[in-house]
Amino acid sequence: MTIRFWGVRGSQPVSGDKTIRYGGNTSCIEIRCDDSLIILDAGTGITNLGNRLQDAPHSDIHLFLTHTHFDHINGFPFFKPLHKKTQSLTLWAGHLSEGKTIQSTLETLLSPAFFPVPLPKLKANIVFKDFKVGETFSSHENILVNTIALNHPGGATGYRIHYHGHAICYITDMEHTSQAPDPALVKFVEQADILIYDASYADEEFEKYIGWGHSTWQQGARLAEKANVSQYIPTHHYPGRTDDELDALQKKLSAWLPNALFAKEGLTITLRTP
Ligand SMILES: [Zn+2]
Ligand SMILES: [Zn+2]
Repeated sequence: MTIRFWGVRGSQPVSGDKTIRYGGNTSCIEIRCDDSLIILDAGTGITNLGNRLQDAPHSDIHLFLTHTHFDHINGFPFFKPLHKKTQSLTLWAGHLSEGKTIQSTLETLLSPAFFPVPLPKLKANIVFKDFKVGETFSSHENILVNTIALNHPGGATGYRIHYHGHAICYITDMEHTSQAPDPALVKFVEQADILIYDASYADEEFEKYIGWGHSTWQQGARLAEKANVSQYIPTHHYPGRTDDELDALQKKLSAWLPNALFAKEGLTITLRTP
């Protein structure tokens, strides 16, 4: 099982010389389970992944969306595999309220006022899979996926992906409501190999962002500790956070949890099959 980060920024993409090392693209993570390819979120990071897939195509991609705020879908229209006839893509989403589907939601994004190619004109064969957050599903024969509702304006879905005895949890975007980690969330991420978590803010600045729907890097560390997670990866960095600031946070985090790593574009982690 291999994870690679293509976009680690929250809220909006950024550019400039202060964000080069960690990267400025918004949320996108690639997960390979041997021959299966899962993509988590379609922020601007997915465009670089799409370029990579031009050279090494994968005919059957599964895309899991946490939710459809801009920073998690704004790379979708520019994902090159969607414009290829031979491409199959299964799109999973569970955050939408009754009566809405992921297909109708993306039809709004890919409509003339926003993008020149309407959704039905995309060449790829897209299968839309709406589920109810909280449900468990199998995206592939040997991959089991648990889901959990996250505290975020409009809702968001957390994922736990099981493959060959390993588990990776992806928990963004969410706001915690007390410093003691939520018992349901502790149970959900318990003993995961990797916890990827919404670390938009720091505890010291959290108060001014209450209600924005995000968490802190320290809260993710508390959750990782409480749930005996093997490795904690904070992501969804605040757009204004510079490389130097993230380096300083990394130092503090390393003193707390030695193998925890602030996500950066290109970070790749491989879990060996036991
Ligand atoms: Zn976000
Ligand atoms: Zn959001």
